[in-house]
Amino acid sequence: MPVEGPAGREPTAMGLGGAAGPDRPARDLQAREQWVRVRTALRQDAGDHSFDAWLGPLALVSADGDTVRLAAPSAFAADWVTSHFADLLRRHWAAQQPAVRRVLVETGCAMSAASAAAGKPAMPGPATHSPAMPAVVRQAVPIDARYNFDNFVVGKSNELAYNAALAMAEPGAPGFNPLFLHGTTGLGKTHLMHAIGNIYLARHPDARVAYLSAEKFMVEFLAALRAKDTISFKQRLRSVDLLMIDDVQFIAGKESTQEEFFHTMNEIIGAGKRLVITADRSPQNLEGIQDRILSRMAWGLVADINPADYELRLNILHAKVSTLANRVAVPDDVIEFLARKITANVRELEGALNRVTAFALLVNKPITLEFTRETLADLLRAHEKKLTIDEIQRKVADYYGLKMSDLLSERRSRDVARPRQIAMYLAKKLTPRSLPEIGRRFGNRDHTTVMHAVKKVEELRGKDSEIDSDVATLARLLDG
Ligand code: ADP
Ligand code: MG
Repeated sequence: MPVEGPAGREPTAMGLGGAAGPDRPARDLQAREQWVRVRTALRQDAGDHSFDAWLGPLALVSADGDTVRLAAPSAFAADWVTSHFADLLRRHWAAQQPAVRRVLVETGCAMSAASAAAGKPAMPGPATHSPAMPAVVRQAVPIDARYNFDNFVVGKSNELAYNAALAMAEPGAPGFNPLFLHGTTGLGKTHLMHAIGNIYLARHPDARVAYLSAEKFMVEFLAALRAKDTISFKQRLRSVDLLMIDDVQFIAGKESTQEEFFHTMNEIIGAGKRLVITADRSPQNLEGIQDRILSRMAWGLVADINPADYELRLNILHAKVSTLANRVAVPDDVIEFLARKITANVRELEGALNRVTAFALLVNKPITLEFTRETLADLLRAHEKKLTIDEIQRKVADYYGLKMSDLLSERRSRDVARPRQIAMYLAKKLTPRSLPEIGRRFGNRDHTTVMHAVKKVEELRGKDSEIDSDVATLARLLDG
């Protein structure tokens, strides 16, 4: 019969040295010696790492007839040992003492040598799940209910990450493990992690879910090292069903933390528990992180999140506007303006919208384009792209299927001259460069040539709708 649970049940036997019969001390001594040998064999079989984390902390409570009772330091640890090392424990005990049929792992009533002699438990009462739970919560950060799958807007740039995150929350064995999400800041990585946590908890109310930043992982680990209590750190983290570690790039160059992180990953994945990791770049681009960690991370599914394109920015803004608590009206042209101007990431986009709506409410004004421009003046200035003449030339050449060298050449045929004039016009309109400067950058032409080009394009825009729309498109491409 295998090891039995459940954890938290109070051992009923009095323990070593408890109910003393005539041959009791001799049997106790024998049991202790057997336990030492069992431990040696366990270390060999389970490996140093698992042994130190799980089996080493077990204490012998009693060995009576066919039943051995062991105490684990927490209900988590008792559960874990029971579900992972049941058979191993029973086999090694049976090897030492053939009468042993069951090994029970319980919590809280181990007897130290001294207290055993006094017949008293070393630790007070049996632990149950409830006092052990806050241990995980203490280390992790609560899952934020505001971030869910319903309010995550999906577009081309994030649909792989979104679908992978959904799959991670599915019941049953995960199709891949770990899930590694990467992308630059403000693109929704943390949002997706909390969404996974929320849906997983909704489906498995008893599950243990932990979310923490890699920084917190390190801080807690180092604190545990200093307090010489890494065992409970390990136990708390490794006993969860779903572990999510955010911004793992933080542990670059931090060797002891990486060591611990690697073992945590292995333990979680090896036990079939779910692991989600994020970073600001892909595993192959993470520097200062051990190769074995990188390859382990790339074992599962690596999904990137790219910056949102215009359409997704627009959809995100519409979604946010519709949930604004104060129901302020945000006209479409303002939404379009924001989507066009705030391109860096979703966090900034959201921040800009919040700022405009909060300020409108404060000064009791309607939100207009003008109001938005004023309110966000500093932000927009900071974001103004420093457009270069080179970029303009490149874009125009691309647009008309020309080579840069053609654009800058002496050739005067219209298929080259017209795009060249348009490029000069755009350089004048979209950069602060002077006419002579622009001339110089276009194969050392005179400033009057540039002036002529600007006039010519202005004139053409008035009468040739095709040229007008080409120029407008190019201006939009260049201006963001
Ligand atoms: P990251 O962790 O990648 O730096 P966050 O998850 O913190 O980014 O996202 C920043 C903000 O943008 C959050 O408020 C988040 O809700 C929001 N956000 C990001 N992507 C989306 C999206 N696709 N739909 C809705 N909100 C999003
Ligand atoms: Mg984040």
